[in-house]
Amino acid sequence: MTFRATVLTLYPEMFPGPLGSALAGRALREERWSLDAVNIRDAATDRHRTVDDTPAGGGAGMVLRADIVARALDPHLDARPVLAMTPRGRPLTQARVRDLADGPGAVVLCGRFEGFDERLFEARTIEEVSIGDYILSGGEMAALVLLDACVRLLPGVMGAPSSGVEESFESGLLEYPHYTRPVEWEGRTIPEVLRSGDHARIAAWRQSRSEIDTRLRRPDLWERHIGARVGSPSGARQRTEDDTV
Ligand code: SAH
Repeated sequence: MTFRATVLTLYPEMFPGPLGSALAGRALREERWSLDAVNIRDAATDRHRTVDDTPAGGGAGMVLRADIVARALDPHLDARPVLAMTPRGRPLTQARVRDLADGPGAVVLCGRFEGFDERLFEARTIEEVSIGDYILSGGEMAALVLLDACVRLLPGVMGAPSSGVEESFESGLLEYPHYTRPVEWEGRTIPEVLRSGDHARIAAWRQSRSEIDTRLRRPDLWERHIGARVGSPSGARQRTEDDTV
C-alpha cells in the first residue's frame, strides 16, 4: 500500500520542495509514497479568486474562509485522516507520526494569514496539529516536516531497518551521542568504551548517556520516563502509548 499525501495550500509550488531530495525524494520516485499538492485558490468562486476575508470582531490580518477551504477539501476526503497545520493544534509526536506512517496517508491543510475559520473544524473531522511552540508564516513548512517524519518510516525508505527504532523519542529518551573517525580531532578522542569492542559495555554506556542527557536536556521527557517506570507493576520498563513523545 502506498502512503498517499494530499496537501492543500495556497503555494502548491512549495511541494515536493525538499521532499524531492535525499531519502524522501528517492522514495517518491520509487513510488513508495505519492504527493499531490492542491491549490486552495482553485476552489474560490469569484473573479478575484478570493480565499480569505477580514476577521470577525476586528483585528489585524485575514482569515481563510471555511466555505472555500471545505470546497477545496471535500473532493479529497476518503479513508485518510485530515490534518490541519496550526499552532493551536496538538503537538506532533513520534507516536502520532508512526501511526500515520502505518496508515493510508494523510490529507494536509496548510494555513496562511491568521489561520482558518474555526467552523471548518466543527463541520469536518479534522485533526489540528502543531509542530512546536513558535509561529511560522504558513503551514507549508509544517506539512513538509510532518511528511518527512512519516516518509522516513515507510517500508524500504531507510537504509538499515533498525535505524528507526533506536532514535531519540522511540524509547521515551533522547538518543545517546554519536562519534566517528578520526579517532582524535583537535585533541579530542572518541570515548574509550566505544573503541573497546565490548558490546555489553557499549550498550550500558549508551543507555546511561541516554538517561543522563535526557535528564539534563529534557526534564519533561525524563519525568515522564520515570513516571512510566514507577507506574508499571513489576517496576520493569514497559512500553506504553505515552512512552513516546
Ligand atoms: N494567528 C495564528 C498563527 C497563524 S500563522 C495563531 O496565532 O495561532 C499562519 C499559518 O502557519 C497557520 O494557519 C498554520 O497553518 C501555520 N503555522 C504557523 N505556526 C505553526 C506551527 N507551530 N505548527 C503548525 N502550523 C503552523
